[in-house]
Amino acid sequence: MRETDWTKVLGWPGYRVYRHEINEPAKTLKLWVRRKRGNRKLVCSGCGRKLAEGYDVYEREVRDLPCFEFRTTVVIELYRVRCPDCGVKTEKVPQLPSKAPFSKRFEEAVGLACESAPVRRVARQFALSPNTVRAIDLRYLKRWAPRRRKPALRQMGIDEMYLDEAAKQFQSEMELNAQHSQSLYQLAYIRLQQHQAPEASRLLAQVIKQDPSNSDAHYQLGKALLEQGDVSEATRELETSVQLRPTDYGYFQLSNAYARTGRSDDARRALEKFEKLKPKNAAVP
Ligand SMILES: [Zn+2]
Repeated sequence: MRETDWTKVLGWPGYRVYRHEINEPAKTLKLWVRRKRGNRKLVCSGCGRKLAEGYDVYEREVRDLPCFEFRTTVVIELYRVRCPDCGVKTEKVPQLPSKAPFSKRFEEAVGLACESAPVRRVARQFALSPNTVRAIDLRYLKRWAPRRRKPALRQMGIDEMYLDEAAKQFQSEMELNAQHSQSLYQLAYIRLQQHQAPEASRLLAQVIKQDPSNSDAHYQLGKALLEQGDVSEATRELETSVQLRPTDYGYFQLSNAYARTGRSDDARRALEKFEKLKPKNAAVP
């Protein structure tokens, strides 16, 4: 097989294979890749700035998906850039999402396997240690979560552009009636959309005091606390919310909260509940 064929089989956009090595007894395949001519856009991994010039070059070895029975390693030529903002930094390469010695699609395969098998079995399947599998799975969950559909403004149907007007309206309603829990809730909801999490938390605590069984208020408070970095309190609120009323968005946020504290098994279980509860016709990216 020629190097151009290996390039096709490997399928790393923008990269070409310039050398390969097959070890038949060991059943390993090693491919050396570098940028294709014309693919010279370098991106600073610190800030995302595009740079025209490389500062220097080095090699990194990562495990990729296997080729038939051959365990495959890719040796990639990586540039460092001299970024005006970050100094000398490694370039950002989409195929290498972390510092770990694995390609993105390899980590995706491991993460996917973890969805339907225990860690120990996945570890055996890929010849990795259970700890490595757990670390890959956690990165996989984190990368995967932001791409998912977010619970929209559908609870209220308020266009984001009118948040300020709506806030004023609810505020005046509250001045008329301090116990108006619905206005309190809706104002808190708007504050959350405006990323005023501490204010939202304060309002939601009031709502919950008036009505401890308000599952949506616990949910929103969980979100507000997550935004403020108080993950353990957020987890408690989100757990209360789904206990009161299981919702897809409740489990979705709960899985985020678990993932942020390294509880990947709990995060996975919450995601499974989210998958079961989410509307069947929801767009899946
Ligand atoms: Zn930079």
